[in-house]
Amino acid sequence: MYMDYDASTPRALATEAVHAGREDLAELGLHAPPIDLSTTYPSYDTRAEAARIDEFATTGARLDGPPVYARLDNPTTARFETALARLEGADDAVAFASGMAALTAVLLVRASLGLRHVVAVRPLYGCSDHLLNAGLLGTEVTWTDPAGVADAIRPDTGLVMVESPANPTLAEVDIRALAHACGSVPLLVDNTFATPVLQRPVEEGARIVLHSATKYLGGHGDVMGGVVACDDEFARALRQVRFATGGVLHPLAGYLLLRGLSTLPVRVRAASATAAELVRRLATDPRIARVHYPRVGGAMVSFEVYGDPHDVIAGVRLITPAVSLGSVDTLIQHPASISHRIVAEGDRRSAGVSDRLLRMSVGLEDVEDLWRDLTQALSAPPAETVRAPRAADGSAAPSRPVGR
Ligand SMILES: *Cc1c(COP(=O)(O)O)cnc(C)c1O
Repeated sequence: MYMDYDASTPRALATEAVHAGREDLAELGLHAPPIDLSTTYPSYDTRAEAARIDEFATTGARLDGPPVYARLDNPTTARFETALARLEGADDAVAFASGMAALTAVLLVRASLGLRHVVAVRPLYGCSDHLLNAGLLGTEVTWTDPAGVADAIRPDTGLVMVESPANPTLAEVDIRALAHACGSVPLLVDNTFATPVLQRPVEEGARIVLHSATKYLGGHGDVMGGVVACDDEFARALRQVRFATGGVLHPLAGYLLLRGLSTLPVRVRAASATAAELVRRLATDPRIARVHYPRVGGAMVSFEVYGDPHDVIAGVRLITPAVSLGSVDTLIQHPASISHRIVAEGDRRSAGVSDRLLRMSVGLEDVEDLWRDLTQALSAPPAETVRAPRAADGSAAPSRPVGR
């Protein structure tokens, strides 16, 4: 479909962000990408359909022409996949209904080959940790640090998995060194936090790059999705698993994610500049015990407070107290209570997720407005002492809700 793309004249990321996956639009007489909501596709030629289904079942390759049925493929979602693959410098990408559906498909591809063992480095996003640790898909996990990966690999190891920067501590790994330590075992890097704007793990030797597209790729807090960027062979295996297990992205979500990609470089760079300024201020603030900010930069900031982290969350007014990240507005949450609650307390703590840690996803607001809100929230009195004034009759008025 995008035959006239010429890889010999590489284009900059900002250019790819607004053009990749859309090369055929002018020829179609369109400007905005069309949304194809079909669940089925008519054909009078049953023999040809049978051949196309056989071809997909044996190779997993993208179908030429209409997808037969919407669980096999979708033209709108395919545009998003093409664009994301280009941004990550990968052969291909396969989109799913969520980041967790994407990770599930990766694990199933490997487990179906009998490679049920996973080596993983903590911290990971709480639910990724849970999926591996609980063995919900029949996989078995060995947790280690990056230096221990080579020794943890066994004959049945199907995957090495890391996040860098990691959720929620923003810890980083040396992807190139780790890819080397993995040998022939595929390295999966969850690149949700850095995005291809700041880091392209495929160029550093990772075979699989995973995104919760719900975060920066969508970018507006209104679409859920996941995507895996990888080589052709792995993408074909993922398409076969997606077809059989059904974790497909809705085409409207595919449309929104493609649109999100077009502003990704601008959003990430602007929010990162604001985040870096907030980091500078937090680093010298006497109420802050420790600030976490990765070398690669980005719009995620984590910090440990001396005071009660619950009071900070209850005290924000402009910043939204909510889980998730990567939206145009700033969100703050307490990982030990929310995003990493499902990880056992001991595992959480040993992974560096302190009970005093707060994780903030910096958005596109003005830095001074954000700082004003953050600094007043950090000074917020303990929630239980904030009371409404007594009513005129002397009875105790209900305590004022401190949060929103
Ligand atoms: C949110 C998140 C996920 C899970 O993605 P969903 O879209 O919520 O399923 C995976 N990895 C990281 C780093 C995340 O932040």
